[in-house]
Amino acid sequence: RGQKCKKWFKENLLLLLTILGVGLGILMGFLMRMANLSEQNIAYFAFPGELFLRMLKCMILPLILCSIISALAALDAKTSGRVGGRAVAYYAFTTLIAVIIGIILVVSIHPGQGDPSKIERAGSSRRVSAADSFLDLIRNMFPDNIAQACFQSYNSRIIESTVPNPAYTPPNITAMASTMTTMVMNGTAIPEEITVFVTQGGYSDRLNVLGIISFSIFFGVVLGRMGEKGKPLVQVFTIFNDCIMTLVYLIMWYSPIGIMFLIAGKIMQMIDPAKLVGQLGMYMVTVIAGLAIHGFIILPGLYLIFTRKNPFKYIAGIGQALVTAFGTASSSATLPVTIRCLEDKNGVDPRVARLVLPVGATINMDGTALYEAVASIFIAQVNGITLNFGQIVAVSVTATAASIGAAGIPSAGLITMVIVLTAVGLPIEDVTLLFAIDWFLDRFRTATNVLGDSIGAGIIDHNVRGTLPPLPTDYEEVAAES
Ligand code: ASP
Repeated sequence: RGQKCKKWFKENLLLLLTILGVGLGILMGFLMRMANLSEQNIAYFAFPGELFLRMLKCMILPLILCSIISALAALDAKTSGRVGGRAVAYYAFTTLIAVIIGIILVVSIHPGQGDPSKIERAGSSRRVSAADSFLDLIRNMFPDNIAQACFQSYNSRIIESTVPNPAYTPPNITAMASTMTTMVMNGTAIPEEITVFVTQGGYSDRLNVLGIISFSIFFGVVLGRMGEKGKPLVQVFTIFNDCIMTLVYLIMWYSPIGIMFLIAGKIMQMIDPAKLVGQLGMYMVTVIAGLAIHGFIILPGLYLIFTRKNPFKYIAGIGQALVTAFGTASSSATLPVTIRCLEDKNGVDPRVARLVLPVGATINMDGTALYEAVASIFIAQVNGITLNFGQIVAVSVTATAASIGAAGIPSAGLITMVIVLTAVGLPIEDVTLLFAIDWFLDRFRTATNVLGDSIGAGIIDHNVRGTLPPLPTDYEEVAAES
């Protein structure tokens, strides 16, 4: 028994340390709040966390390219079509379920009732058309320059044309959200340029993930069809992929410290919880309850139905990815860890994991879809607007679309929510009501997003296992090493 305990402890050491990191981060954050540090000093303090995020993000581009290309090149067109088709069907189905859960909860709990004047509104803004946002999504799928796609997504061009003062374009949406939160807390009026930036769906994460994915898919399929001639290149991508996965493994051992500082930094910046008015508190409860139902009942239930295996054992295997999602609030940054967990701990076929997960991390966001539906109906409630059935259907369709359009980066869902609000004619500037608490909810919905992708990969793996060609030898070697 002692031996068994020791083995379990050894196998789960990293996960235990990371969970400890989350706990210590929360504790340290609350203690350090008392020191009342300035924004700048908080940034210095949280620096080890920033490094963690940078290291993970650095893996995304090479990982997506190599994993998709090497997976597709190792599968015949029929099999990859089957895997892809099932993945898309699963994504659509589960996202829609998430939206419906959100709508049922927000309509029955009705968190938006009360005195609307109590919640702080920030600034005003212009409208953005849903059609433009949709076209942007498609544009991103067809990058006109693959090198540029690695630097800048199309969205950021909108910012350049709409933000008159470049001083108001911080490097990323996280910096933007924290600037806005500080302004709301200090009672400073938020310049229109900032609200325009935020509500135009413009954020720059400097990586057009969707474009890179679509390029890799076409490239991988063509390379796979080349047969013998293409083999050397397939091998290059496979070896590249293995190198990256080894780097990911090293970075994962830094996660307990990285996540501890990320969380502590966020807690030091957050608005005083006592200042949260009842409506926002109930709104948070509604979102978290919805995510819990989806994550603990629906997704495990689907896994059980389709595979007849224990879903919670499978979920335990991706514990590290879930904690990383919670710590980073980014499914893209978590992607390398998710792939490793699925391949190493849950024995998912690497070709399935490498194909399904990058696409899932980019377009399949159950948590975000649920949150967008709840948030937009909450905004309607706060404004005393009752949505009719047609509008609620519009919310579900656009919340699904907006979750597909959201990048896997912190607070992206808050930005694409503008699409939902525009579609049903709700005031888009009210997005800013939710800023102060978004950093917190974002963590829960990102973990749900990662869970949704992983369960999907598990179900598809089970589904296609017997029909896959044998694993190429270079894949087997890697499996044996890890
Ligand atoms: N942060 C989320 C993710 O990376 C997206 C969102 O803001 O909802 O999955």
